Amino acid sequence: MPVDLRDPVRLLLDTVLADARVHEEGAVADYIPELANADPDALGIALVSTRGVPHEAGDSGVEFTIQSVSKPFAYALALDLFGIDAVSEHVGLEPSGEPFNAISLDEASGRPMNPMINAGAIVTTSLLPGATADEKFAVVRTGLERFAGRELGVDEAVFASEAATGDRNRALAYLTRSAGTLGSTAEVATTAYFRQCSVLVTARDLAIMAATLATGGVNPVTGERVISEDAARWTMAVMTGCGMYDASGTWLVRVGLPAKSGVGGGIVAVQPGQFGIGTFSPRLDARGNSVRGVAMLEALSRDHGLHMLAHREEPLSPIGALSRSDDGMETVAALRGELRFAAAEEVLTRLAPLVRDDGTLVLDFSSVTSVGPAATRLFRALPGLLGPVEDRHIQVVLHDPEGVLDDD
Ligand code: GLU
Repeated sequence: MPVDLRDPVRLLLDTVLADARVHEEGAVADYIPELANADPDALGIALVSTRGVPHEAGDSGVEFTIQSVSKPFAYALALDLFGIDAVSEHVGLEPSGEPFNAISLDEASGRPMNPMINAGAIVTTSLLPGATADEKFAVVRTGLERFAGRELGVDEAVFASEAATGDRNRALAYLTRSAGTLGSTAEVATTAYFRQCSVLVTARDLAIMAATLATGGVNPVTGERVISEDAARWTMAVMTGCGMYDASGTWLVRVGLPAKSGVGGGIVAVQPGQFGIGTFSPRLDARGNSVRGVAMLEALSRDHGLHMLAHREEPLSPIGALSRSDDGMETVAALRGELRFAAAEEVLTRLAPLVRDDGTLVLDFSSVTSVGPAATRLFRALPGLLGPVEDRHIQVVLHDPEGVLDDD
C-alpha cells in the first residue's frame, strides 16, 4: 500500500506504533507449537471508519492466525441466525474472570460462562449449521470473509499443530457435550473450531471486521449487510464484558472499547458508530493479550478520548431557530442535527410552555439528519400529549419532508 503522507490519521497511527516499540516484554505463544514461529517484532495497526476509509501503519498487511479474535465473529453469526435467547440456552453472557482455557461451566445449567472463553467458543461453533466439521467450518469461513470483505486462507501448519495438541479443548467439548449444551459431537465441534482459529487475517482485515460491528452489521468497505443490528449490538456487549480474557475489567476502565484478543497476537477494538481498529504484535503478556497491541490501544484511548463512556460535551441545541407568527397563534421551531432522546426531551419541554393554548406548534424537521427510535416515539406522541387536554387545544404539525421520522 503506497504511503500517503496526506493522511493525517495514518501519521497518528505511525506515532502510536513507534511509541509501542519500546515494549520488549512479553513472549510469543508456544503452547500451540507452531505459533512459536511467529516474528516477535512484527507490529501493525489499522483503523477503518464507518465510512469505510482505511488507515494503516507498520505490518498491517502481514497475515497471522486469527485465533480467539474469531470468537466474537462466530458468535455474531450464531446470534444472527438464531437470536440471543436461543443461543443463550447454550452459552452464557457472564464474565468468567478466568483464563481463556478454564473449565468454566455454570454449575446449574452446564453452560459455558460466555462465548469469549474456549468452552463457550467451541459450543458457539457447534451450533452453526452443518453436520460435519467441514460444513460448519465453511459457514464460519464464509462469515469471516464477509466481515473482512475478502477471501481468507487457512494456516494448515497451525491447524495441524493445534489439532495435535488440543486435548484440553477436546476435554472442554466433551464436558459441554455431557452437560447437553454442545450442538454436535465433540470431534466435529473441536475440528471446526481449530480450523476457525487457524484462519489467516491481517490487522487491516481485523479493522474492517471491527468496523462492520461499529456500523451495526454492514461491512463499510463492501457495503454488504453481514449481520443484523441486534446481532452486532449483542456481540459488542459481550466483547465489552468478556473480550480481554481475565483482564477484561482493567481493559474496560483503561481503554473502554469492546474488544477481543487472540494468542496469534491480534486484537480488534470497536468504537460503536465510529470505527474499528485491528492490531498485530505477537508478544503476549501473562494473560494472553498482545503487549504492544494493548499499549497502542491504551495510548489511542487516553490521548484521543476514545473511551466509549467518556463524557461528551453538550451537543448544539436541537432547536436551530424559533419564530412566531404576528398574531402569536403559530410557533415554528426549525430543528437540526441528530435527534436522540435527550434532544427530543429538550425540544418538547422548552416548546410546550411557549405555545398558546389554542395555537399551533410546527416542528420543522427539514434540517434534521436522523431521529432515534425513542425520539421518534416522543415526537409522534406529541399531538396526544399537547392536544385536547382540558382547555388546551394545541395543534401539532410535524413538517418532515425527508421522512426522518419514519420508524425504521
Ligand atoms: N486456538 C486457541 C485455543 O483454543 C485460541 C486461544 C486464544 O486465542 O485465546 O487454545
